[in-house]
Amino acid sequence: MALYVQKFGGSSVADAECMQRVAQRVYDTKQEGHSVVVVLSAMGKTTDNLINLSKQVNPQPDEREMDMLLATGEQVSVSILAMALHALGAEAVSMTGPQAGIATDSAHTKAKIMSIEPARILENLEKGRIVIVCGFQGRSPTDDIATLGRGGSDTTAVALAAALKADRCQIFTDVDGVYTADPRIVKQASKLTTIAYDEMLELASLGAKVLQSRSVEFAKKYGVELEVLTSFDRIPGTVVKEEVEDMENIVVRGVAVDKNQAKVTIQRVPDRPGVAATLFKELAAANVNVDMIVQNVSEHGHTDISFTVPRDEINRTRATVDGLLESIGSAGATYDVDTAKVSIVGVGMRSHSGVAYKMFEALSAHKINVEMISTSEIKISVVIRSAYADQAMQVLHDAFDLDKINEQAS
Ligand code: ADP
Ligand code: ASP
Ligand code: MG
Repeated sequence: MALYVQKFGGSSVADAECMQRVAQRVYDTKQEGHSVVVVLSAMGKTTDNLINLSKQVNPQPDEREMDMLLATGEQVSVSILAMALHALGAEAVSMTGPQAGIATDSAHTKAKIMSIEPARILENLEKGRIVIVCGFQGRSPTDDIATLGRGGSDTTAVALAAALKADRCQIFTDVDGVYTADPRIVKQASKLTTIAYDEMLELASLGAKVLQSRSVEFAKKYGVELEVLTSFDRIPGTVVKEEVEDMENIVVRGVAVDKNQAKVTIQRVPDRPGVAATLFKELAAANVNVDMIVQNVSEHGHTDISFTVPRDEINRTRATVDGLLESIGSAGATYDVDTAKVSIVGVGMRSHSGVAYKMFEALSAHKINVEMISTSEIKISVVIRSAYADQAMQVLHDAFDLDKINEQAS
């Protein structure tokens, strides 16, 4: 008898019929003799709708209240699934994040899980019950409800799998696995049988929203093997796991695009020690997540500094930067929200050369201009105009023959 953690995303629990399908699947796992902990997202587009509702009454809602609001979405899901399981004759109990013993830090709307005290879950499993936990939420140090950022139910599932030492962690979604690119954008994307934690971590943090990146961090840290699979069919998905030797044979395993990007350029700042330190210290204090940073060659003692931030943090960024321009001696700043980041990822990049050249050549052949570049051992990212984002993904997918990746592997 094994312990399964099964997580179902928003589109898998979108309506009553979906809930019944999920209930049947969970029930079947239980009937096979396994213990099951289920983690659910809010139904369909509930979270988006709640965010829109809040903005209608206040353009900048208080973050504690936002968490009170958003956490309700998952509560609807877990209670409905419990009722659907009861209708099948199963014993099931639903729990909020705090009831399940999930403790977070106090960063409302993007909290991190700090610890899990699973006694109540274990007690219920012992009694033979299916335990259904609200994804995306936990209790903050001040005893408030906190949410884990968009896509956070993935992280709840992996963290629970680690805390409970589950035998399997299955992430059910609306695609049947992890692909070489978003299959909704690149029609010839290939489904991967396996992918290394590090590759999945890069893809997820570079825009492939199939898994929240923090969930992959947890999985890697605690050695939780994840399976990403569809809730609409009973076929094997993609296993995310420790890297094995032959994974380096594939140079590029996937392409990701992030359209939530903005580029800031601070013009003509004096080229002297301390300017960058002041700027990025203030941005950090304003809770802005700075990503790529480029400083131009100095001319006549002045230089331009460009950096990227998430587009939804641009107002905070602008307020901070505008307030600093005079004190750092800059001539002015520009804020550009028509940018996107496109990235290629693969552990094989460590041992193969010419990858950057091939990427830039493919983009230039399609007249896609590269504005910024950043690299790590296993990824190359470029900033381009957002209008070309999907095309760039397709171009890079073609350039690295990712439609034939499963032939390359064999
Ligand atoms: P859920 O609601 O189940 O959490 P998400 O919408 O968060 O589902 O994630 C699934 C979506 O991720 C897919 O519908 C797909 O469009 C997108 N996606 C982006 N990149 C990839 C990729 N490389 N492989 C699979 N899906 C991807
Ligand atoms: N409901 C939350 C969201 O839409 C969390 C999740 O689905 O993982 O982001
Ligand atoms: Mg998701």
